[in-house]
Amino acid sequence: MRIRLRGARVIDPGSIDDYLDVVMEDGLISALLEPGTPPDESNPFDIDCSGMIVVPGLIDIHVHLREPGHEYKETIRTGLLAAARGGFTAVCAMPNTLPVNDGIEMTAFMVSRARELGGSRLYPVGAITRGLKGETLCEYAGMKRAGIVALSDDGRPVERAGVMRRAMEYARGIGLPVISHAEDISLAGDGSMNEGVVATRLGLKGIPNAAESTIVMRDIALAELTGASLHIAHVSCRESVDAIRRAKKRGVPVTAETAPHYFTLTHEDVARYDTHAKMNPPLRTEQDRMAIIDALGDGTLDIIATDHAPHSSLEKDVEFDRAAFGIVGLETSLGLSLQLVRDGVMDMAALIKAMSKNPAKLLGIDNDLKPGNPADLTVIDPEAFWTVDSKLFASKGRNTPFQGYNLKGEVFMTIVQGRIAHGIPDGQG
Ligand SMILES: [Zn+2]
Repeated sequence: MRIRLRGARVIDPGSIDDYLDVVMEDGLISALLEPGTPPDESNPFDIDCSGMIVVPGLIDIHVHLREPGHEYKETIRTGLLAAARGGFTAVCAMPNTLPVNDGIEMTAFMVSRARELGGSRLYPVGAITRGLKGETLCEYAGMKRAGIVALSDDGRPVERAGVMRRAMEYARGIGLPVISHAEDISLAGDGSMNEGVVATRLGLKGIPNAAESTIVMRDIALAELTGASLHIAHVSCRESVDAIRRAKKRGVPVTAETAPHYFTLTHEDVARYDTHAKMNPPLRTEQDRMAIIDALGDGTLDIIATDHAPHSSLEKDVEFDRAAFGIVGLETSLGLSLQLVRDGVMDMAALIKAMSKNPAKLLGIDNDLKPGNPADLTVIDPEAFWTVDSKLFASKGRNTPFQGYNLKGEVFMTIVQGRIAHGIPDGQG
């Protein structure tokens, strides 16, 4: 199949920002041409993309797909459909499934299931420790051969620094990044939202910033000690940002992500005990939100991920302190993140770096828009207005705090390996 996207603004941060025709054949990008050639009426995949922006496929480095074990919340199929709708040509699936992805068989299962589906790509993240118990390291080398791209016990921290050190030493030896879910369990306790005035007003137990930042600092120290590539997941607060900024200045091999909810919402959004505003780490203060935005602007935070965490109403339609942590994010991430461009926090190229190029770099993937590379790309309609309606999500999860939000900027098409994973050109179905 030959696809041609005609006349879009093509942005590949650092190398391309120009109006071009993108031609794809046999799953690969075959040419980037000056526009102006007349349309090919006989090919329904010769698509007018004027007004659109074509970028290297977005990659979400942090999602929970729930299969195996909790298929009622999400399956690999529905999760990858949600990814394609959100413009993501690839996602990294965290290992906290049931059973945990802590061995070759589980990794192989996920890889083959995704391959069977043929939509957005799935890159499994392997567990740091068996069963996420924080004790015995998994067999990283074999899991890497089976397809894992990183290591994490996400959902839980690795509580003992000595275990984390050994994990980093092993990971460094075979070239895998270690993703830290930075949370001191003893400080987080049974808190259910940010510690502060809002928690006090609502009578809820709080989680202090220090529950996150102390482990961020610990893991930075361990990355410095071992030389391992460390990636900090879901950064929510000012103190973590400060620690990461200082570490980068010293040359520590650390990268970090935040999620759209941390730069869009604050703990005030929990006000009516809305369990769709309950996630871990929790929504913080306005001061923290501004620190996250500054850090995206100056590149201290490299990546925007979603921490897509689908739950059913069983886990969410309960009292706030009993509700599960987490929200879905795949289908709202781009729309929310484009606001950063309109607010002047970053330009479009910097946003595409945060949502595509930097995750690719961390995972060792070459997703440059150039002939010969896999045709993984996202077509964005930057002017489209739409309203978030969770009932229309491809994800099984309806747990979003952004229900009813009016967003500007929509995914027009998601193309993976030269196949349309989302978006149907006019006249097609
Ligand atoms: Zn986490």
